[in-house]
Amino acid sequence: MEKINPFENMLSVLTATAEMMGLSESDYVVLKYPEREVKVAVPVEMDDGSVRVFEGYRVQHNSARGPYKGGLRFHPNTDLDEVKALAAWMSFKCAVADIPYGGAKGGITVDPATLSKPELERLTRNFTERIAPVIGPDKDIPAPDVNTNAEIMGWIMDTYSRLTGAPRPGVVTGKPIEIGGSLGRTAATASGVCMIAKMALRHFGIDEMASRFAVQGLGNVGGLTAQILFDGGHKVTCVSDVNGCVHNEAGLNITEIRDFLKNGGKLNEYKAAGVEQLPREAILTIDCDVLVPCALENQLTGANADKVQAKIVVEGANGPTTPEADEILKNRGIPVVPDILANCGGVVVSYFEWVQDLQNYYWDEETVAQRLTQKMELAFKAVVEQADKYNATLRKGAYAVAIGRIIAAEKIRKSWH
Ligand code: NAD
Repeated sequence: MEKINPFENMLSVLTATAEMMGLSESDYVVLKYPEREVKVAVPVEMDDGSVRVFEGYRVQHNSARGPYKGGLRFHPNTDLDEVKALAAWMSFKCAVADIPYGGAKGGITVDPATLSKPELERLTRNFTERIAPVIGPDKDIPAPDVNTNAEIMGWIMDTYSRLTGAPRPGVVTGKPIEIGGSLGRTAATASGVCMIAKMALRHFGIDEMASRFAVQGLGNVGGLTAQILFDGGHKVTCVSDVNGCVHNEAGLNITEIRDFLKNGGKLNEYKAAGVEQLPREAILTIDCDVLVPCALENQLTGANADKVQAKIVVEGANGPTTPEADEILKNRGIPVVPDILANCGGVVVSYFEWVQDLQNYYWDEETVAQRLTQKMELAFKAVVEQADKYNATLRKGAYAVAIGRIIAAEKIRKSWH
C-alpha cells in the first residue's frame, strides 16, 4: 500500500481553506513551513552493555501566538513527515482553542515495548538533553502523546531542571501531580472529546442516549473516552486496540475490558457474554452511530470511507481521516468533527497546568473542569460560525478559525519582515 504522507494531507487542507477564505498565498505561505526542524541522535546504553542509537525529532511549526506546544510520540513508524504534520496541527489546535501557544511536536523512532524501563528512562533523559537548547517553559513545552505518559514527562522535567540548575515544572505538561501536574489533565483530552461529541450530536439532531458509539484505540484518549461514555450511561458497542476488536450490539462493559487490559490481558483474548471478536480494522466500518477514532492517523482512507456506517465521525486521534476519505464522507452526508477541535481538551488543560506551574498556585479539580468546559464551548461555537459562513465542513471551519487567528498575530508582530 502506498504510504500516505500526513504533512501533504495537512498542506492540502490548509491550501483549500485559505482559498475558501479568499486569502492570497502571501497571507498564509509561512504556515506551509515549520519554523524549525531539529533532528537528534540519541545513544542509549542497553541493559546488556551494548549501545544503540535512536533518531529523535522536535519540529516547531509556528510561534506567532506564543511559545511552541505539543506532544512527544515514541513509535516505530514515527518519522519527520509525521512529526511535521502533527506540529502544524498543534499550531491550528491551539488557535482553535484560543490558548496563547504556537505548535510543535516531537518524537523518537522506537518501539518502547521492546525496551526495559531503565532503557526507556535513559532514552528519554538523553533525548531531553539533546533537545534542551530548543525547549523551555517560555520557549517550547512538550507533553504526552502516543506511548508516552506522566512518568516520562516527570523524567523530562527532572533532566531539564538538572541541566538548568533549578526546578522547572513549566517545561512539560502532563506531569505527575506531585511535581506540578494539574488535576484533571489525564482525562482532559477524553473529557473534551466527549463534550464536543455531545455538542456535535445536538448540532446535527442525533439522539445522544440512543446512539451506539464505536471507539478505536484504548489508550489515554480512546480508553478514557470509552470509559466516560460508559459511565455516563451511553452504549459503547465496539472498541479496538492494536491487538484486536470486540463488539456487542447490546453494549460492552468498558470498565471490565479496561481492567482486563490493565491486568495484562489482550483484547483479542477478551471473552464475555454477547461479545464477538472481529478483525482489528472492522471497527471502522461497523454498524454504529458515532465512530470515534482515537488511535493513529490515516485510518479512514479512500479504501474504506465508502463503507463507513456511522452517522458521524468524531476525531479523537490526530489526522485519522485522509483528505480523500474526508471528501467521500462529505459526499455521503457523514459529518466529521475534526481533530483540531475534537481533541483540543488535552492541550487546554496542558495550558492550565503550565499557568499553574508558572504561578506556583494550583487549582482544584472543579475549577479545571469548569474552565475546560468554557473553552470547549467557545471553540465549538467559533468553528460552527466559520463553517456556516463559508457553507463548509467543520474541518474547513476549524482551519478557518485557526488560520484567521494565526495570521492576525503574524500581521501584528511582523516578526519575519
Ligand atoms: P496511547 O499510546 O495512550 O494509545 C494509543 C492506542 O491506540 C492504544 O490503545 C493502541 O493499542 C491503539 N492502537 C495502535 N494502533 C492501532 C490500530 N492499528 N488499530 C486500533 N488501535 C490501535 O496514545 P494516546 O495518547 O491515546 O493518543 C491517541 C491519539 O490521540 C493520537 O493520534 C494522538 O496524537 C492523539 N492525541 C492525544 C492526546 C493526549 O493528550 N494524549 C491529545 C490530543 C490528541
